[in-house]
Amino acid sequence: TSVNQYLREHIRTVMDWPAPGVQFRDITPLLQDAKVFRVLIDAFVHRYMDPALRPDVVAGLDARGFIIGSVIAYELGVGFVPIRKKGKLPFTTVEETYELEYGSATVELHVDAVKVGHRVLLIDDLIATGGTMMAGKKLLEKLGAEVMEGAAIVDLPELGGSAKLRASGLPLFTLVNFE
Ligand code: IMP
Repeated sequence: TSVNQYLREHIRTVMDWPAPGVQFRDITPLLQDAKVFRVLIDAFVHRYMDPALRPDVVAGLDARGFIIGSVIAYELGVGFVPIRKKGKLPFTTVEETYELEYGSATVELHVDAVKVGHRVLLIDDLIATGGTMMAGKKLLEKLGAEVMEGAAIVDLPELGGSAKLRASGLPLFTLVNFE
């Protein structure tokens, strides 16, 4: 649609960052322009305002998932919980470790962040291999919540992450694909 095209035109591609050969999709231009930021947030809010899709809580993935996730939660009138990289959350946490191209990463969530049976919308800026979103889903499920959908601005379908997440039973909603 024209909204998806409009958003795509405001994503910046940075070559060879953070490493040679990587094409980094930079979403900061979507945030810094007030009009584009509103179109971006409204695209999510419009979908999740639907009573059938309205979550009980929004969970955001560190760190760009916080920027859009918290605004979406505010607009939906629901709470926001952060899923953070290990060592940042002060209270008791559950944690999940997942494999990266080189090494591994661990994310954490406060044990009282969600309630058993809560329907959670899980948000990040971008899905690449899907490892980050899968780890977030597992954390929320450890606490007995149901992740009703994963949402991101960008999907990189060639990396197979979104297919893997969908195959695991997680519905996904993304606004822009880069092949
Ligand atoms: P995945 O775990 O491989 O799906 O990688 C997704 C995570 O890495 C998200 O938290 C993204 O913020 C980050 N990421 C990976 N590649 C990019 C990119 O090209 N642009 C912005 N973020 C990226």
